[in-house]
Amino acid sequence: MTWWKFSTQVDPDFAAIVDAALEKRDLRVEQAERLLTARDAEFHLLLAAADAARKEDCGDDVSYVVNRNINWTNVCYRGCSFCGFSRYKHEAEAYEISLEQIVAKASEAVARGATEVCIQGGIHPNRTHETYLAILSAIKKAHPSLHIHAFSPEEIDFSQQKSGMPLREYLLLLKASGLGSIPGTGAEVLDDALRETLAPRKLGTQRWIEIVRAAHEVGLPSSSTLLYGHIETPAHVARHLEILRTLQKETGGFTEFVPLGFIHTNTKLFQEFGARPGSSMLEDLRLLATARLFLRPWIRNVQVSWVKMGPKLAQMGLLAGANDFGGTLMEESISKLAGAGHGECLEPHEIRTYIREVGRMPVERNTLYRILRRFEETETKVAAADSVAEGFPQQSNSEKSHVAESAEAKTLASAFPIANAVELLG
Ligand code: SF4
Repeated sequence: MTWWKFSTQVDPDFAAIVDAALEKRDLRVEQAERLLTARDAEFHLLLAAADAARKEDCGDDVSYVVNRNINWTNVCYRGCSFCGFSRYKHEAEAYEISLEQIVAKASEAVARGATEVCIQGGIHPNRTHETYLAILSAIKKAHPSLHIHAFSPEEIDFSQQKSGMPLREYLLLLKASGLGSIPGTGAEVLDDALRETLAPRKLGTQRWIEIVRAAHEVGLPSSSTLLYGHIETPAHVARHLEILRTLQKETGGFTEFVPLGFIHTNTKLFQEFGARPGSSMLEDLRLLATARLFLRPWIRNVQVSWVKMGPKLAQMGLLAGANDFGGTLMEESISKLAGAGHGECLEPHEIRTYIREVGRMPVERNTLYRILRRFEETETKVAAADSVAEGFPQQSNSEKSHVAESAEAKTLASAFPIANAVELLG
C-alpha cells in the first residue's frame, strides 16, 4: 500500500480535527467524540498525532513514581455496581487494618524508596473524620517528608459530613494534618444519568466538582480519572473530558489524567447489568490519544494504568500520547478483587525496562511531577537483580542520577495560581 492510499482513507473532517489539536486549538466535545470512534487509517493517524503532541508537550521522558497503595479497609455499603472490592462488615473477606499497620506499611514503603503513599478505602459506616485525620497524623509523625496522596472525593464527602465542618475548613484541616494531594477517583463517568447505574449512592457530578475545586483552591492538587469500558458511550467520555478541562482552566490543580479501564469479572455491572467486559485495545489507545489531543495544553500529563492494561499494552499507550507510567504500587487490592490479573507491584527497574523498550527515557518523579532522578544509562541485568535483592531503593552504579529542577514542576506551579508554589513542590 502506498502512503497516498493510506491518506485517502482518512475523512478530511477527521484530519481537520487532528490538525486543530496539533495547532493547540481547543477541540469541541463533538470533535473528541469523533476521535473516540476512529478506526483503520484514522486510528493510526490519531495515534501518530497524539504521539507527536506528546513529544512536543513532554519530550521523550517517561516518568513514574515509587509509591505504595494502602487500601485500609474494604468495608463499604455504597454498593457501586462496578466495584469488586467492597464487602459488608459481616462478610468473611471484610477487613480493616489498624493505624499501627498503616504506619508499618508506610515505613516499609519508605525503606523501599517510596516518596508517596496512596491511601484509599471503602466508606466504613462506623468511622468518622477522626479516622481520616488520625491516619494522616500518624504517617506524618513517622515520616514527615513522605507525600500523602489520599482520600477520594467520595471519602472527603463522607468524612466532611461526619465532621460537621464547612468543606473548605475541613480540607484545610486535612492539609494541616499532612494531606499532600488527593486522588481524582470516584469520578467514574461524570454524568448523573449514568451514575444512577454505576454508583447510585455515591456523590453526584456537581458535588464531585465542588470537592475537587475546593481542594485545588486550598492547595491540594489532584489527579483526574475516568472509568471506561462498561456502559458509557463516546459522547459520555467526551463530555467527561470537557468537564475536566473546564475545571483545569479554572484551578490548574490537576496533575494528570489517568484513564482507568473497567475490570469486569467480579462485578454486578457486568454480571447483572450487561456491561461490556471491559474495553478493547482499540478503545484503550483511542482514549489515551484523544485525551492527549483534547486536554492539551491544559492537562500536561497522561498516564497509563499498567494495573488495568497490563504492562505490554501500557507500553503501547506510551506510543499513543501517554508520558507517564504511574506508580510501583507495591500492593493493589481494588483491581485485583475485581478480577484484574496484571499483578500488584512492578519494581522500579522493571518499569524502567518497559520504558526503555519503547525508546524513551525513564525518569523518577514525585507525586507533583517534580523529576527526582534521570536514568540516562542502560541498566545491566546484574544491576537490576541487585536492586531487587536489596529491596530496590538503590540505583545501580551504572546509572547516572541527579536531582533536577523539573520543567513539569514549574509548569504545574505556574498553572496553579491559587496555592503557594513552594508548598506545592515541597
Ligand atoms: S467504589 Fe468505593 S464507594 Fe463504591 S462500593 Fe467500592 S469501595 Fe465503596
